[in-house]
Amino acid sequence: MSGQLKNKAAVITGGSRGIGRSIIELFAREGAQVLTCSRSEPKDPLPQGISSLTADVSRSDEVKKLAGEAVSRLGKVDILVNNAGVQVEKTVVDSTDEDFETLMGVNTWGVFALCREFIPLMAGNGGGTIINIGSISADHADPSMALYNASKAFVHGLTRSIAVDHGHQGIRCNAICPGTVRTNMSEHRIEAFAAERGATKEEVLDTYIDQKLPHHQPMRRFITAEEIAAAAVYLCSDAGAAMRGAAFTIDGGWLTR
Ligand code: NDP
Repeated sequence: MSGQLKNKAAVITGGSRGIGRSIIELFAREGAQVLTCSRSEPKDPLPQGISSLTADVSRSDEVKKLAGEAVSRLGKVDILVNNAGVQVEKTVVDSTDEDFETLMGVNTWGVFALCREFIPLMAGNGGGTIINIGSISADHADPSMALYNASKAFVHGLTRSIAVDHGHQGIRCNAICPGTVRTNMSEHRIEAFAAERGATKEEVLDTYIDQKLPHHQPMRRFITAEEIAAAAVYLCSDAGAAMRGAAFTIDGGWLTR
């Protein structure tokens, strides 16, 4: 099916690479007008027709700039996908104040500030759909990821509150909770994991898919960014109208195991 997002205007943060990149590309193919942002220019040029700007979602002035540009470039906003995120691989004891500020600035304050900015715009236009990219780490403690795990629990909690408080204004809000998708972020984690254990990267990768090992992924492969993008399209399309406040897990059976 194509054209599921025809006539929709979407703001998607962190579209320069990884999961966000797949979401912006699929949304554009499904007919949406897309505006994305990241702190640095995308290394690979974006497909024609996708609008982008450099903006840091952890900064108040840049969130305002993004909202202003969204209105002037798109004319309206029907969809907000809070995808931009960062990771710090440390325990509580090892995390510094700066780690806290950096990670929470993007993963929690940025999500809150963008929702606060865009909900009135959407509501004034008859409603809209918000997707916050959470994680399976919100409900399960990935070792040495204390602040990251906590930030994603915040994202799921905020998602539920928005769904409840703003549903009557036509706002749908859901979280997508991916398992491991191979992107810059997860590569960094896999490399750190290998270094900690004195293992090779390949040995660590095997632990995800070898069914004999306790941490294997039942699907026996990683999740693709395209699979996350397809779920985002569903949640933003008319077919997903009854989805509200959900934490939509796409993890290849990791948590169930
Ligand atoms: P990547 O690091 O590959 O991409 C992150 C994107 O966000 C980049 O475009 C980056 O661009 C942008 N970004 C980061 N910080 C900011 C900021 N302050 N302001 C604006 N843009 C920013 O990560 P993934 O694609 O893996 O992750 C995307 C989302 O999915 C994140 O929320 C992550 O927590 C979540 N997730 C990922 C999983 C995985 O296995 N990969 C699993 C579960 C959840 P730039 O650096 O130029 O700003």
